Amino acid sequence: NTTGAVSRNPATGALIADYPFQTPGQVDRLLADNAAAQRLWRATPVGERIAAYRRLAAALRENAESLAALMTAEMGKTLAAARAEVEKCASSIEWVADNGPGVLADEPAPIDGDDQIYISYLPLGSILAVMPWNFPLWQVIRAAGPIMFSGNGFVLKHAPNVMGSAYALQQIFETAGFPKGLFANLNAGNEVVAQVIEDPRIAAVTLTGSARAGSAVAAIAGKALKKSLLELGGADAFIVLADADIDAAVKTAIHARFQNAGQVCLAAKRFILERPIAEAFTRKFVQAARQIKVGDPTDPATVVGPMARADLRDELHHQVERTLQAGATLLLGGRKIDGPGYFYAPTVLTGVTPGMAAFDEETFGPVAAITVADSVEQAIALANTSEYGLGGALWTGDTARAQRLARRLETGGVFVNGFSLTDPRIPTGGVKKSGYGRELSHFGLREFTNAQAVWVK
Ligand code: NDP
Repeated sequence: NTTGAVSRNPATGALIADYPFQTPGQVDRLLADNAAAQRLWRATPVGERIAAYRRLAAALRENAESLAALMTAEMGKTLAAARAEVEKCASSIEWVADNGPGVLADEPAPIDGDDQIYISYLPLGSILAVMPWNFPLWQVIRAAGPIMFSGNGFVLKHAPNVMGSAYALQQIFETAGFPKGLFANLNAGNEVVAQVIEDPRIAAVTLTGSARAGSAVAAIAGKALKKSLLELGGADAFIVLADADIDAAVKTAIHARFQNAGQVCLAAKRFILERPIAEAFTRKFVQAARQIKVGDPTDPATVVGPMARADLRDELHHQVERTLQAGATLLLGGRKIDGPGYFYAPTVLTGVTPGMAAFDEETFGPVAAITVADSVEQAIALANTSEYGLGGALWTGDTARAQRLARRLETGGVFVNGFSLTDPRIPTGGVKKSGYGRELSHFGLREFTNAQAVWVK
């Protein structure tokens, strides 16, 4: 849509609301207000910033039900998952309030002598955040929490299909007493976003989304000599070695692939199984996937809701068809579910090899691709045969071996006997086409700061 953002319920296809794009005058005002609020905020004592963060966490919790219902209506995640997402946002904001002051405190430089030498972590200014729809609140809070704590302003360009969530979040920041305009919702098309990136009032850009979007936005930022952080797609491997606890691995694998209807950057997408356990794992995995209840995301019994948009479901189905045409075998699903809404049947493909769509590309939906490896060496090589390098899981009974193998995996994270996840205490981000830079933890708190060296003679 070239005139506004449209939010539609993916479980029914019904229109929820449309939000006409802001006018050029409104965008200009928004940037001016954000810059003014940022100057105020950077001068705000840290104790007051902490208090604002605590009020934000409380406001998120107080509004948890309405925020969760809105996310479910706009992009189809289950209500239970949406409630958990709000709570994760609140607790992460508290983590930043507890740990931000220490991480961002002036740091003495390790140089002997009488001079006073230290590093200050100063804000950069207004940061533009281009965000996706799969975790309408968490993707934003994951960026905004650490970025704003150091004194930066935050301009959110959310995905058009979750614009209601974007406005709701802006309201929560205002309710929590942040300076008006410091968290600003930009509702505009990509051409205006390009102008905003170039605008001198924007200091840097962070983006979560596809490699295509990341490349477009980072190119504009690069030309304008502005820093960018990219958290892009993934094709995470879930490696199961012959000595793994198969039942535990299957249980975790089901969640790792099918949570959020499979629309997770860090979801397990390529299941790489060592041959001795491949048959047993596959049988149990298909059995469990067949039991998954797909349906109305507001029904507490539902595990997998609809996909977020019709075009995303079409694209996923096309990837499945291309993978089958290339010689893979369909064990389960492989079809759109008839009726209203954008539901896709939980799908399992086996015999998937490099060169096939489900191996080479990011599959952003409930589709698991199984590949059998003849040895541990081949399993590692297959895992690394990807343009992406976000996270990955490694299942084995020998954790010392797992730690040795982890160093050989070309990813931003390795989860041994677990699954890829985000947590405020650890950095998240990738290598290769999964992007660069890190969010969360002390890395996220410092990414958008000016590490200023001060040397006093
Ligand atoms: P996009 O990556 O296109 O969208 C993510 C965000 O980037 C949106 O806010 C979008 O806004 C914006 N964007 C995209 N292109 C540009 C541009 N040229 N300039 C400025 N902003 C831009 O994701 P889609 O929703 O189209 O999904 C397509 C695929 O991307 C998925 O199937 C999945 O593979 C991947 N994806 C991965 C995510 C992850 O977390 N790894 C998250 C979302 C998608 P707008 O829609 O207005 O263009």
